[in-house]
Amino acid sequence: MKVSVDLQRCKGYAACMIIAPSIFDVSEETNKVILLNANPGEEARSMVEEAIRGCPVKAISRVADDEK
Ligand code: SF4
Repeated sequence: MKVSVDLQRCKGYAACMIIAPSIFDVSEETNKVILLNANPGEEARSMVEEAIRGCPVKAISRVADDEK
C-alpha cells in the first residue's frame, strides 16, 4: 500500500502526524505535511485509513501499489 499527500490542500493541521507519526510529519518551516514513509505496507493500513479520515481537508489518499 502506498500513500500520497496533496500539498496544495494541506493546511498543516497535523492530525495525520498525531495518528501516524511513523508515516507523517509536519514541517515547521512550510507548515505542510512531510511524507516520511510513502510505502508503509499492509500492516499500516488501518493507521493510514484513520489518518485519511482524520485529515480535515482530505489531503491524504491511499494509492494502489500499481499506481504511480
Ligand atoms: S492532517 Fe491533512 S492538513 Fe493536517 S498536516 Fe496532515 S495532510 Fe496536512
